[in-house]
Order: sequence, then structure tokens, then C-alpha cells
Amino acid sequence: MYGDRVKILVVEDEPRMARMLQRGLTEEGHQVDVCQNGEAALRQAVDVAYDAIVLDWGQPDVDGVTVVRELRARHLVTPVLMLTARGATGEKVTGLRAGADDYLVKPFDFDELLARLEALRRRGAAPLPERTLGDVRLDPRRRTLTCGSLDVTLTARELALFEELSSQQGDAVSRTRLLNRVWGADFDGTGNVVDVYVGYVRTKLERIKSARVSIEAVRGVGYRLVVT
Ligand code: CA
Repeated sequence: MYGDRVKILVVEDEPRMARMLQRGLTEEGHQVDVCQNGEAALRQAVDVAYDAIVLDWGQPDVDGVTVVRELRARHLVTPVLMLTARGATGEKVTGLRAGADDYLVKPFDFDELLARLEALRRRGAAPLPERTLGDVRLDPRRRTLTCGSLDVTLTARELALFEELSSQQGDAVSRTRLLNRVWGADFDGTGNVVDVYVGYVRTKLERIKSARVSIEAVRGVGYRLVVT
């Protein structure tokens, strides 16, 4: 990998900090793009294949935690190094739980940022494993569900919902948790969107004629994935 030009996305709204990061990383031979808000970062990170993302927590619109959660919900596995002015353990845990790979508190030593980025890049993105649930094969990379000779493609949101339900191994998952994990904590719609998307996924399971995988409503709670 040495000698390759590494593509890094810097997400930082403060011009001075953004310039410092861009200059420093460019001097190291990296190719650097800068986004000045969370919305732009979400678009850019999905459109361009970056090797790493340096993401500041505080953004004027969508905060860094929401950005990282959205990226992971879309099954984008680019390593994310989160920057923050807040040093509290709670904030760090929130960032890492949302899907950030590492965390650096401002003000930081630029050499430390470089070392952390290099470590993240070496570690690389964890491959999303294919797996079998009952008579259904899930391929997260291709976003497909296969049963026998039939297959369907899920949207990124449907896949995130299916993954969240399947990660709980048959236990009920609340609507609140599904909203938080699949739509993001700042989503301002209602829990009905969960029902609508469960409907979409059920239709797709019917289309591949799975006899062993279904999504069951759990009264007063939410849903669970049943595999027999
Ligand atoms: Ca900021």
C-alpha cells in the first residue's frame, strides 16, 4: 500500500481547522477532499470511494455521530476517525457505538492524527460476511437475499433493517431501537415508517418464497426475525 495515493475525506466546518488538516495531509502525499457540513459529507462519502474519513463531531447541520451512524446504516465501511472538542467518556462511547473506528480529542498533535489514520487504514474495513438464515442466504455486499433459485435486492435501508433484526437472534427489537439504528436518532418522523419498511422486507421474503424466515410483530414492542 505504501506509495499509493490515499484518498481522505475531511469533514470540518471550521475553516482554519479544515485548512490545517488539508494542508498537513496533502503534505504527507494524501489526496484530500473537504466537506464543510454533515449533509455534504454524507453525499460525498457515498459517491466517492475514500480510504478514510476524518470527521469532526460538531457540524452546523447533521452532527458527526449522525453522519457516522448514517454511513454505517448504508453499510459503508470506510474507516472513520472522529474528532471532538468534548473529552467526556460518554461522548467517546457514543461516537464509537455509532460506528466510528477511532477518536481523537482536540487539540491534538498532528503526528498522532497521522499515526491513528495509518493504523486505521492498515486495519482496513471489516468485510461484511455473507450468512445463512434458515433457507435464506444474505449477501450484505450485494444487498441480496437468496432462497433456492430466487433472489431479491434490498435497498440500503431495507438491508439495515434486516441486519438489525437478524443481529438480535430472534429477540424482539423495539420500534425505538429500529428508528435509532436504521434511521438515526435525529429522524423526526414516526414509528410508522418502521411498519412500512417491515412490509417491504416481508414482501421481498415472500417473493423468494422463503418458508423459514419471517418477520413477526411483537405486540407493544416491535418486531422480531423468526428463523425456523
Ligand atoms: Ca466543527
